[in-house]
Amino acid sequence: MKKILRWLCDFFTFKKKIRLVLTNEFPRSFKHNIIYIEGDIKIKDYWYSKFVCPCGCGDILTLNLMSDSPPSWSLDINQQTNHFSFHPSIRRKIKCKSHFWITNSKIIWCRD
Ligand SMILES: [Zn+2]
Repeated sequence: MKKILRWLCDFFTFKKKIRLVLTNEFPRSFKHNIIYIEGDIKIKDYWYSKFVCPCGCGDILTLNLMSDSPPSWSLDINQQTNHFSFHPSIRRKIKCKSHFWITNSKIIWCRD
């Protein structure tokens, strides 16, 4: 019942849930609303993240997840809820100049 209510709530507020896909190798094409993580899944060693820019411009964004080569982002996956968050926020300096957080599997837009 709770699940149905949450689904209805998400549906009516048009909040798009994004999904995390862990992979050993990035696919050739990327789908909207999916965050792809490349790395050694077995040992939870993640290298890069790629996804379609959520603003709709269609560009593919790449985040470095390896902390020894900055700038890098940290990925936090909650084992209980499976929700994921990136830290810090993602700010594009070129083209669409989108600025957003990915927190609890949702895109939170920043108004600069
Ligand atoms: Zn964009």
